[in-house]
Amino acid sequence: MRYGFTAELRRLVGFGCIALIIGLIIDQFMLAVLLFCILYMGWTLGNIYRLDKWLTQRKKNTVPDASGIWGDIFYNLSYAEKRTQRQQQRLKAVVNRIKVTTAALNDGVILLNRNNDIDWWNKAAERMLVFRSVDKGNSILNYIRHPKFACYLSSDKHDLLLDLFSHHCPERRLQYQITRFGEGEGLLTVRDITRIYKLEAMRKDFVANVSHELRTPLTVIRGYLETFTDFNHIDPVWQKGISQMLQQANHMTELIDDLTTLSKLETDNIENTQVPLDLTLLLNKVIDVAKAYSHGTHKFFVNGPKNLWIMGNEKELHSAFSNLLINSVIYSPVDSTISSQSITITVTIDSMSRLSVSFADKGMGIAKQHLPRLTERFYRVDSSRGTDASGTGLGLAIVKHVLLRHEATLDITSELGKGSIFTCIFPSHKLSVAPIANTIYNIHK
Ligand code: ADP
Repeated sequence: MRYGFTAELRRLVGFGCIALIIGLIIDQFMLAVLLFCILYMGWTLGNIYRLDKWLTQRKKNTVPDASGIWGDIFYNLSYAEKRTQRQQQRLKAVVNRIKVTTAALNDGVILLNRNNDIDWWNKAAERMLVFRSVDKGNSILNYIRHPKFACYLSSDKHDLLLDLFSHHCPERRLQYQITRFGEGEGLLTVRDITRIYKLEAMRKDFVANVSHELRTPLTVIRGYLETFTDFNHIDPVWQKGISQMLQQANHMTELIDDLTTLSKLETDNIENTQVPLDLTLLLNKVIDVAKAYSHGTHKFFVNGPKNLWIMGNEKELHSAFSNLLINSVIYSPVDSTISSQSITITVTIDSMSRLSVSFADKGMGIAKQHLPRLTERFYRVDSSRGTDASGTGLGLAIVKHVLLRHEATLDITSELGKGSIFTCIFPSHKLSVAPIANTIYNIHK
């Protein structure tokens, strides 16, 4: 560039001097300068015309021949053009590779623009959502017509997955997940989970049926065993056996009750069963149940604001809170050193208007390594721990399910030998106001 510019300058000065000398010789100085300027402008215009022609032609293979600054301009532009072409080819190759790779995926992949219009999809998405080439540019909401999907797309909870039945094939279950990138564009993945869904449904049915079928024979067995324990003339050896059998039969009944509760929580529809509940009243009912378990060995305290109302299903929340409170009673036993244990229920509303209900005891506590697994079914820390309780290991699984159905979470903090705090955290929209007298709520069970 610098070389071309100096050459151009030299040319300008050289021809300018010649024009000057000729002007002086013929005694027409001004005319010679004017002629020189016109010639130079004509030559420059000619180059501009060639540049414009070269830029507008489709194939810019041959660079126009020029010297001086114009030679440099043509050369640099052609170099930039070739570099852009190379980059475009590289990008094209990358895009083609991505297309080939995503086409081989079993999961559907759909690219959405910031308005949720379809930009591109792979073969699997085409199969699952029956796309045709004319569908490009249309809103995805035209193809996945479900209010839940519209809510999911507009919300920012994109780490969650959404399971829906297919619009085209109602027995097919599809799972959606959207990932936002760039300036609001979206990558929607679709997975066919029909097989998993059917297996899960089979598991739920199996547990529900087995629990139901076991209940009747167990009631008969317990009935006979209870009758036998009342007989005075039974051999003491048999007496011991019968009372142990009765104990185990009772334990099995508890297991079946908990399994039935869990399978109901998994299968029943929660929608339209939630109504405003007086939290203080609900907690008082739960405390009454826990008091019966405690036989006066525990003192219960409630802290926090009164007159709070929560949107929820009373039966389910009662079950979750009483499971937590009864656990606090069971796992904070009194011994010779203390005559009574205290259990505190604290209700708080945090800065994000979330409602927390925590159950704190000063009992045996739980070692750190067990905390992540506590809500798993049948997970018990150590059945041989110093307590008479023979739990089912299903209580916290029930709590987790109930909270999930109320969009709430369970937070557990505990220290071995010092006690535990189980906190249920409800999102702000679960806080409710007292219903107006005589309001009738339609509860569909
Ligand atoms: P379980 O019927 O055994 O009580 P849960 O699911 O209710 O079943 O509880 C799982 C395990 O968590 C229990 O076995 C117990 O070891 C532990 N756990 C639950 N609550 C408490 C608590 N408040 N203090 C100490 N340990 C607890």
